[in-house]
Amino acid sequence: MSVWAVLVAAGRGERLGEDRPKAFVRLGELPLLAEPLRRLDECEWIDGVVLVAPPEWEEPAILLAEEVGASKVAACVPGGQTRTDSVRAGVAEVPAEAAVILVHDAARPLLPPDVVPRLLEALAQGADGAVPGLPVADTVKRVAGGLVAETLRREELVAVQTPQAFVAGVLRAALARAGSEGTDCASLVEAAGGRVVVVAGDERLLKVTTRADLDRVAALLA
Ligand code: C5P
Repeated sequence: MSVWAVLVAAGRGERLGEDRPKAFVRLGELPLLAEPLRRLDECEWIDGVVLVAPPEWEEPAILLAEEVGASKVAACVPGGQTRTDSVRAGVAEVPAEAAVILVHDAARPLLPPDVVPRLLEALAQGADGAVPGLPVADTVKRVAGGLVAETLRREELVAVQTPQAFVAGVLRAALARAGSEGTDCASLVEAAGGRVVVVAGDERLLKVTTRADLDRVAALLA
């Protein structure tokens, strides 16, 4: 069974306030992108990687992949306006024989080794998709026009991370019917009627949005 990963790194990362895309912000000696590239490459379950780079940053992205020895990177393409557009561009480069496609955010650099096998196990059990999730600590409310419209039952909520794994044909079909919307891939598969399972997530998969997040990731690496 062939498993491919699409690493989406084309976000602008404006909330970091740097003069470069988030994937190229420094994390130690190297750009942030080096960490997820290396970790996907080291994952024994993954056969190939498609890298989705910020437009006009494809060349530095390829050079970085070479620098860290990420030899599974088979293609590098420019991303689109939204995350879903970037995923679509990446998935288009995944070979037809891939049975499973994993989509991972470069903004979550610390991929622990045991997350991918958990996702693949859920697919082996018959799910269309599998996502890592963590319980929610805060009470979450839906708000409309500044007023609380609803308080959601916390026991029923999970905060969802990446990588997210899908039966390749299911993800391709969901992308074909979707527009540019969606903050994760699972929502597109759900909308298409797919069965998505939640497996245990990991605190280390935190997403870098602000400078404080970057400092937390650096501290976990130290
Ligand atoms: O900004 P957001 O939290 O949605 O970003 C999640 C991931 O999607 C990041 O790794 C980012 O680089 C990627 N992304 C992308 N293309 C976009 C927007 C986000 O590849 N247009």
